[in-house]
Formats: sequence, structure tokens, C-alpha cells
Amino acid sequence: MADAREMINWSSRPANLKTGASYPLIRCKPDDRRRWVILSREIVGLDTHYWKGRTVPHVKQDCPACADKRPFRWYGFLACLSPGWTKVVHEITPSVCEALEIYAKDHGTIRGSVIEMRRTRGKVNGRIIATLKPIEGVPVEQLPEPHDVIPLLFRLWEVQEHTQLPKIYSKPPGGFPRIVKNGKEEEAA
Ligand SMILES: [Zn+2]
Repeated sequence: MADAREMINWSSRPANLKTGASYPLIRCKPDDRRRWVILSREIVGLDTHYWKGRTVPHVKQDCPACADKRPFRWYGFLACLSPGWTKVVHEITPSVCEALEIYAKDHGTIRGSVIEMRRTRGKVNGRIIATLKPIEGVPVEQLPEPHDVIPLLFRLWEVQEHTQLPKIYSKPPGGFPRIVKNGKEEEAA
């Protein structure tokens, strides 16, 4: 009889560990005192719209939220390490981007900096003030490579395989169900 040890497919890491879609997304809290180590060399940012109760990306062609005259709001995302050294994705706003640009001018890169963000007056929507300083005790070249932040964003927006667009912008396969109004067939919006 085979030994149970030999029957089981042991592994030191799950096969899907590299999907990248499951990092926690961190947003600055009003009274945040957490510090993050930035792994990214560059900010991944985009124009978004707040539309139908969600933050969704602006798209270059036939943007439904633009058609609905929704204003633009820029967000950036950084690959970071948490204080417990787990990989996270941190959302940033234009004011943080400005602070990062100033830091990068002085230090040549944002990678390997320790960032602390808090909101003015501790308000949920207060402007975010960022404080940056170089990491101590760990050489930058020994930090892990930055993880890809885009798979997480695609998961949040529920980007659809068949349209390559967020679910909220996508027609279901086969189109929206047909509805009959005043004897005419229309596509449900
Ligand atoms: Zn748009």
C-alpha cells in the first residue's frame, strides 16, 4: 500500500500565488498612522469617474461615464509592503503624487521610501498629506521587486473577458435582454 505522504501533492506555495489579484487595497484613513515601504518605481495612475455608485476607469473610446457628464478624478496606485511585510496596493491621490515627485527629485526614486499618509483634520475626505523618508536598515536592492497592481484593479472593476471592459460598461454576452415598449423592441440599458 502506498504511503499517504507519497499520495499527497505537497507544495510550498499555491500554484496561483502569482495571479496578483488578491493583494489588499489600502486607502488612507482619517487618523492613519501606518507606514508603508514603497516597492514601485513608478506610479500607476488613471482618470476615473464616480458613476452609478462606483469608481470606474475612464476609457478612451465611447466612455459611458463621460457621456453621462461625470467629472474626472485621478487616482494612483503603489505596490507597497505593509508594516508586517506583506504585499499590498496603496491608493494615492494627486496631493500624494506631488509629494512623491518632490521626493523622487531629491532621491532619484520613490522605491525604498517609507510613506506615511494622513488626512487633514482627520476627515474622511480631507486632503491627504504624505510624509516620506528613505528606508533604514534594509538596502533598497534587497527589497522585493514591485508587484503588478493592475490585476487587482481589474478584479475590482470586474473587467470582463469578452469585452475587456469593466462589468458596469459591458453588455452581457448576447446583449442586454430585449424589452418591448409601445410595441417596439428595445435593448434594456
Ligand atoms: Zn470617461
